[in-house]
Amino acid sequence: MESARLILAAALMIAPMTARAQNAPVQTADPILRGLKEGDFPRLKQLEPNVYAYEELRPSDPGKFKTTVDMIVVTSGGVLVADGQGNPAATRKLVAQIKQLTPLPIKYVVVCSEHEDHTAGNAAFKDAFPDVVFVASPVSQKALAASATPPTEGVADKRTIRLGDTDIEILNLGRAHTGGDLSVYVPGAKVLFMSEIYDHRLFPSLARGYPSEWLSTIKKNQAIDAKWVFGGHGFVDDAATMKRELAAFAAELTAVIAEGRRLHDAGVTCRSVKDCDAVSAANWGPYDGWSERVTQAPGALMRVYQEIDGQLPKQEKSKP
Ligand SMILES: [Zn+2]
Repeated sequence: MESARLILAAALMIAPMTARAQNAPVQTADPILRGLKEGDFPRLKQLEPNVYAYEELRPSDPGKFKTTVDMIVVTSGGVLVADGQGNPAATRKLVAQIKQLTPLPIKYVVVCSEHEDHTAGNAAFKDAFPDVVFVASPVSQKALAASATPPTEGVADKRTIRLGDTDIEILNLGRAHTGGDLSVYVPGAKVLFMSEIYDHRLFPSLARGYPSEWLSTIKKNQAIDAKWVFGGHGFVDDAATMKRELAAFAAELTAVIAEGRRLHDAGVTCRSVKDCDAVSAANWGPYDGWSERVTQAPGALMRVYQEIDGQLPKQEKSKP
């Protein structure tokens, strides 16, 4: 037992050192395994001259030490931000960072994921820029209707916003993690932000998601002519790694759905997150060690079962 623990400890120490020697970060969503500390965040990464990724740690969330990532597009006509942070203090920090990039105001905030860890700080955008417009899918508009910053403009399919000199496409490519998922694409810079459709090196968070539709939504995103792809959690590495990792995430989701189907067909039960024999019977293979596997597996199995049994909510008609 003790020797096994020592070997594990040694492996954990060697892995980041080897990765650092090759100048490539170890592929994990866990900041600690990447050798990062709380004080290293937030981190701003310039992907192209006018497009940035902003990585911040989810605050006061013990056991869920991971990043929430936003996209910032700076144009001659102001700023568009895709997704915010999980509380006003964290979003104020994001706003302060944007003010260092440009004197121009934030004109649009696109809610790509309606979940709290991406929206609960949105009041800070409005406090700083009272005229800011919140944009979301019709599903997320409904979910956030009673919030302090309800999205007033909806994207049922696709909308191109021309901001100053830059075209920015808001894309509703299908249900994935929330059911109201949006992507944002900047064609001039070839940067695609997928929010929670792409969670880099995380076990898929499916408890409120749509397993098979999520996969086809990823495929539609992969068909876009992007140089950069990044998502709402995990890390933003170099462009080639991020494309490869998106394919790895899709492969993981495929494997999770297949494992759920195998257990379902074998008659192992999963009635709810708390009443799911499939959890202990599952074999996740290479995905066993992906971040949040332990917390996310029950919800993932439950949703795969619900899909097979035809119990998932139907797609709302988004167009009249
Ligand atoms: Zn999230």
